[in-house]
Amino acid sequence: MTKFTDFGLNTSILQAITEQGYETPTPIQARAIPAVLKGGDLIGLAQTGTGKTAAFVLPLVHQLLAENKQAPGRSCRALILAPTRELAAQIEEQVKAYTVHTKLTSTVVFGGVKAGPQIKALARGVDILVATPGRLLDHLGERKARLDLTRFVVLDEADQMLDLGFIPAIRKLLRLVGNERQTLMFSATMAPQIRQLADDFLKHPETVAVTPPSKPVDRIDQKVLYTDPADKPQALIDLMAPEAGKRAIIFTRTKYGADRVAKRLVKYGHKANAIHGDKSQNQRIRALDAFKTGEAPVLVATDIAARGIDVDGVDLVVNYELPNVAENYVHRIGRTARAGASGRAVALCAPDERVMLKDIEKKMGVHIPGLNDAPPMPKAEAAKSKRRRRGGRRGQGEGGGQPSQPRNAQSRDGQTSGGDGGKPRRNRRSGGGQRRSGGAPRAAE
Ligand code: AMP
Repeated sequence: MTKFTDFGLNTSILQAITEQGYETPTPIQARAIPAVLKGGDLIGLAQTGTGKTAAFVLPLVHQLLAENKQAPGRSCRALILAPTRELAAQIEEQVKAYTVHTKLTSTVVFGGVKAGPQIKALARGVDILVATPGRLLDHLGERKARLDLTRFVVLDEADQMLDLGFIPAIRKLLRLVGNERQTLMFSATMAPQIRQLADDFLKHPETVAVTPPSKPVDRIDQKVLYTDPADKPQALIDLMAPEAGKRAIIFTRTKYGADRVAKRLVKYGHKANAIHGDKSQNQRIRALDAFKTGEAPVLVATDIAARGIDVDGVDLVVNYELPNVAENYVHRIGRTARAGASGRAVALCAPDERVMLKDIEKKMGVHIPGLNDAPPMPKAEAAKSKRRRRGGRRGQGEGGGQPSQPRNAQSRDGQTSGGDGGKPRRNRRSGGGQRRSGGAPRAAE
């Protein structure tokens, strides 16, 4: 079995990971660390929870230490791009932990907060910059930052970048980075647009994959509870009653729904908070902290807001409503069973969600057992399902059922639900997505 000491990493890094309690490298680390240390470009196919952050941060830190250079003013030596504020903040937390015994500097840049302190931190130059694309482009546009001297670039969660419409921004950013660079890209899946991005910006990349794309962690015990929509509030209370004090994430499709569910749980004695794109950055940080410390162990979240929730020890994920896109189900349940633990996931499935459930089962290649008997499929849903089987799915993971939710969860005011206020792409749906009269795609969440 590979050991951390096998990689020849700088001793200050080894000391830091020992203090983190890591004993053996995870499979993605075992494969990616030596590959990155060789200096070539890399595509890492891995979901969150696999230890992928350390898989790219540790060899980057090693190389930065080996180079022993000064960070140029307004610039960074290594740039890590993340799709959401929460993820960016968590990556930087990990960077800080792994560089604690070094003199390397790091900072994080994302939207929704004041630009001043970020500009100040950048002015001095920083070794490792973690950023969301929109805010970084703002700084670059105002000449508060430059990337031409940056030597290392990581695109983390490229598939989420795609979902949030950040690919044009990423392309713009990559064009600003000098050619003499090492580029690493991590993604849970390899959609055609991601493949194209890699073809355009990575040089002869090595690919390492640790789980087949889209396959959820096998350690998750998944169940479905068939229920009418009107019975869902009570079904959830019943489901959560024996879970008091345990760490659980409940997913809803809308921001309003998240607030309502959180309120109801609190009424029934649970310590719960909602997290979604309408909450201020401070509210989100407080809710996440309370979730992490166990002070409020129940988090009610919309998809996008939950992207960056990388917390170990989540016992249960409840899909209060099923996501329209099967891929999101995989992301949602992936919040449990992290770092080797096992976990549980329960989906509340209303009759009009049966097609979505079928899509999810098909995507994962598993049947999700029922906690109760499945009622016969409503005629309309059965017809939809048949049409789907005949016509195949529309596009790459899109239009997964209900015509109610555009995938990009942004509005023009930059209130990205978990994103960073970067430029949203146009709604890609061929039809049926909600459009406001102003023409801006608006999330249903
Ligand atoms: P990630 O997939 O990067 O979000 O990491 C998931 C979790 O695994 C994080 O909480 C890390 O601190 C933890 N982790 C990363 N590498 C290791 C390791 N080698 N041993 C134990 N835990 C790890």
